[in-house]
Amino acid sequence: MKCRHVLLLTAAICAFAVRSPAAEFTIDADFPGGNLLVDGIEGDVVRVRQDRRDTPRFWFHWSFRVRGAAGRSLTFQFQDGRVFGAEGPAVRVNDEPWRWLGRKGLDGDAFRFAFPADAREVRFSFAIPYVEDDLRRFLAARQHPNLRVETLARSEQGRPVELLRCGAPSAPGRPEVLLVCRHHACESSASFVAEGLIEAVLADDALGRSLRDSIAFLYIPFMDKDGVEAGDQGKARAPHDHWLDYGDNSRYATVRALKSRYTAGQRCDLALDIHSPYLDDDRVFFALGSDVRIAAGADRLARSLQLVRTGELRYDVADNLSFGSGWNRREEYGELRNFVDWAEQLPGLHAAATLEVPYASVRGVAITPANLRMLGRDLALAIDHCFRPADVQRRGEFVPSPVAGEIHRADLERSP
Ligand SMILES: [Zn+2]
Repeated sequence: MKCRHVLLLTAAICAFAVRSPAAEFTIDADFPGGNLLVDGIEGDVVRVRQDRRDTPRFWFHWSFRVRGAAGRSLTFQFQDGRVFGAEGPAVRVNDEPWRWLGRKGLDGDAFRFAFPADAREVRFSFAIPYVEDDLRRFLAARQHPNLRVETLARSEQGRPVELLRCGAPSAPGRPEVLLVCRHHACESSASFVAEGLIEAVLADDALGRSLRDSIAFLYIPFMDKDGVEAGDQGKARAPHDHWLDYGDNSRYATVRALKSRYTAGQRCDLALDIHSPYLDDDRVFFALGSDVRIAAGADRLARSLQLVRTGELRYDVADNLSFGSGWNRREEYGELRNFVDWAEQLPGLHAAATLEVPYASVRGVAITPANLRMLGRDLALAIDHCFRPADVQRRGEFVPSPVAGEIHRADLERSP
C-alpha cells in the first residue's frame, strides 16, 4: 500500500502543469507515459529531473510536454545524473513523427531546443514512447481473423491488461510461443519489435502463411500496464519489479495471471521476454538462462536470427550474454526469480531468453519504429526458421524452415 500512496502523490505532482512566470509556456507530464519533476524556471532555463517514484536506485527515464513556446529557445537542465541515451533526447513536434535530437547539441546534462514558429505542443522523451494508445492504433489498423485480443488480468489500478493471440490456433502437438514485453515499464523499444513480429505473423506472404499454419503465438504487450500508463520507469521498483516477481508469492496481478495459465500443463515451446539494456548500450543481444538445454535452444534461435536478418539493425550472436556473465548472475537478484527462471520450469520448453533491444541506436544506426519493426519481422523469420512442428515433436530440436530459407536466399540474391 505504501507503494500505491507514493504513486498517487507523484501523479498529483505530475498533473500540475508548471507555467513559466516570465513567459507563456507550460511544461507538464500529465499524459499517458509522462514523467518529470520541475525544480524551477529562470528565464529560458528550466531545471528538471526524472521522477524515480518508487525506485530507490538511479534510473534515467523521463518524458514531458511543452506548450506555448513557439518561436523560443529553451534549455532543459537535468539535475539528477546522466539521462541521455546514444542519440540524445527524442522529440516530437505537434503530430510529426518522433525523431532524435542527437548528442551534438547536448551541454553536459542539459539540452537546448529551438521551438518552431508553428509548435503548438512539443514532446520530449528519453526514448520513443509506446503506451496503450499506440497499441490501440496498431490493433485498429489490423482487423484479422487470425488476431484475437483477450484480457490477461486487471492491473492493481484496475486497467485491463491485454493478451493477444495470433498465428495458428492452439492444438495438441502444435508449438506455442509466449512473447512478453514491458516487465520494465520504460523499455519501449520492445513494443515496436513485438509489433513487427505480430505484423509478420498476419502478413499475406509466405512467412505469414507458414507461421499461421504452424505456430500459436501468445503476446502480452504490457506486463506492467500501470507503470507504462503512469510513466514509471518500473525498473528496480521497491520491493521488487515485475520481472523479478516469478517466485512463489507473486506480488503483481499480471504475473500471477500469466503463471496460472501454465499451471495446468499449458504447452510453451519458446518463451521470449523483450527488454532494453542500459541507457547507451548499442547492441542487440540475448541474455540466456541457467538451464543448459534451454539456453542451447535459445542459442539456436539467436543463430537463426543472425542468419536470416534482413533489417538494418544488426545482430551478432557474439554479443549474447551467457548465464553467469555481467548482470546475468544469480547473485544480482538473490532469492528472487525472474521470468526466464520461471519459464525454464515449464514442461516441454525448448527455448527461453531475455532479448535486449537498445533504446536509441544499434551499432551506430539510430532506432526508429520502422527498423525496430523490421527486427521483429526478422525475429519472426528466425522463429519460423527454428520451429518446424513435425520436427520439434519428433526430434525435440529445431531445424530450418524451407520458407525462411527461401526468403533468406532471395534476400542474398538481391544483395550487391
Ligand atoms: Zn528490463
